[in-house]
Amino acid sequence: MEISREHLAHNLLVLRQLASPQGDIMGVVKSQVYGHGVATAALLSSLGLRKFGVASLEEALDLKKSGVEGDIYILGGFFPWEAEAIVAEGFIPVVSQEEEFESLVKAAERQGRTARFHFKVDTGMGRMGCLPRNFTRSFFERLSLSPAVALCGVMTHFSSAEKDPEYTEWQFQKFLAFLKRWGFWGKSLEYHCANSAAFLVFPHMRLALNRIGIALFGVSPNGEPELAKSLGLKPVTSVRARVKLVKVLPPGFRVGYGGTFVTSRTSRVAVVALGYAQGLFRALSNNLEVLVRGKRAPVIGTISMDQVMVDVTHIEGVEKGDVVTFIGRDGEEEIRVEEVARRGKTIPHEVLCSFGRIRHRVFVE
Ligand SMILES: *Cc1c(COP(=O)(O)O)cnc(C)c1O
Repeated sequence: MEISREHLAHNLLVLRQLASPQGDIMGVVKSQVYGHGVATAALLSSLGLRKFGVASLEEALDLKKSGVEGDIYILGGFFPWEAEAIVAEGFIPVVSQEEEFESLVKAAERQGRTARFHFKVDTGMGRMGCLPRNFTRSFFERLSLSPAVALCGVMTHFSSAEKDPEYTEWQFQKFLAFLKRWGFWGKSLEYHCANSAAFLVFPHMRLALNRIGIALFGVSPNGEPELAKSLGLKPVTSVRARVKLVKVLPPGFRVGYGGTFVTSRTSRVAVVALGYAQGLFRALSNNLEVLVRGKRAPVIGTISMDQVMVDVTHIEGVEKGDVVTFIGRDGEEEIRVEEVARRGKTIPHEVLCSFGRIRHRVFVE
């Protein structure tokens, strides 16, 4: 995996400009920075990003070890036994239940520190967060008045920002109504609701804080490259592997496990060192194109654990050691994460996370 420093820096700049002047960006760097490794979070930190979102305490600890500066938010909730460490490390957890909240208060009181936290309301995602109807006056008073803890923000999360504008607007209005109903609105709190999709498509949902994951990597959250391109975001990630063997197979010869591909002509086939163990979905067997010497070439046969076969009959001079591009540019041609997601019938997020299994990562200009 090659990670472009220049494109990452460029995207961060573009996104921060879109967020300003009213707000800032939280880089959502869960799942090892969407498969790019925690060193990429350290790079974002060196580029000036000061707010990072992760899913769990474990991820927050990994991130801190990598040397990022600034605030680390735990977006995915926590267990009571994790509260001590969260407070001791100064992480900012997102709270959605009273039980979670009380464990945080206890830990903060025991340690004699003020624990910062955010509160999450569920406006229609049906995952973490407190339903507005279950938010009571007594919980509100505990949240606002407990001296050992400091409420620093209120958030919600959209379920369908990449494909359902009406539902997203409905959730947004519910969020605003909740903030106003309880007097949170207009205080100096960090309000946030937008993920990449909402942030890019609905400017009025850009608030004090914006939780941006996939767009940092120049990838469209809705799988349509045009969205990222139109905002000037540039792809950060390339995935490449080398040809290990080139051989000529006669017509009628089976290729790969299960013989799911049979040559129809004399074919030149390259065996390439990437497979499902490195994150190349097996479901992409016989349904993927890669770049070899600047040209598109089809994957043939079933993808193996560490290898895949590519038909290079139409490409001159392919030899052992050649670099094959699965994601990224080669000459005039480009394969984007969105294309692989579409072929794999999934979202770009899952493609990037999956390639997180690759061990060898390098930063390039
Ligand atoms: C993952 C996540 C995001 C970021 O989503 P993207 O589509 O990658 O921008 C934002 N908020 C929460 C709560 C998340 O879990």
